[in-house]
Amino acid sequence: MKPQILKGDTVMVRRGKSRGKRGVVKATFPALATATVEGINVVKRHTKPQQQSGNMGASTRTGGIVEKEAPLPLSSLQYVCEACKAPTRLRRGETKEHRRARICVKCGEPARESAKGA
Ligand SMILES: [Zn+2]
Repeated sequence: MKPQILKGDTVMVRRGKSRGKRGVVKATFPALATATVEGINVVKRHTKPQQQSGNMGASTRTGGIVEKEAPLPLSSLQYVCEACKAPTRLRRGETKEHRRARICVKCGEPARESAKGA
């Protein structure tokens, strides 16, 4: 199994218009091999104001622009090590706490493990 990018990891975008930007993974979608990254690949969704007319007068729910991160393919994201702050890769290895920890290939520091239920 390939060490995966997990929710809460810092990643750098390797491809596309957001190339070189860094952000924190908000959510991963393993089935689709995509992830959303905070502040990256933000798309604007326009919501229409909803008008309801009635005897009590028209009430208007304000429409507007909702900004939302669109998923990016995991293959275009590179893990950024929290210890050495460099875009790096992860390998599996043993630490005192974990038998299959994710370890930075650059500095050898273990990455934090996924939050339970994430
Ligand atoms: Zn490192």
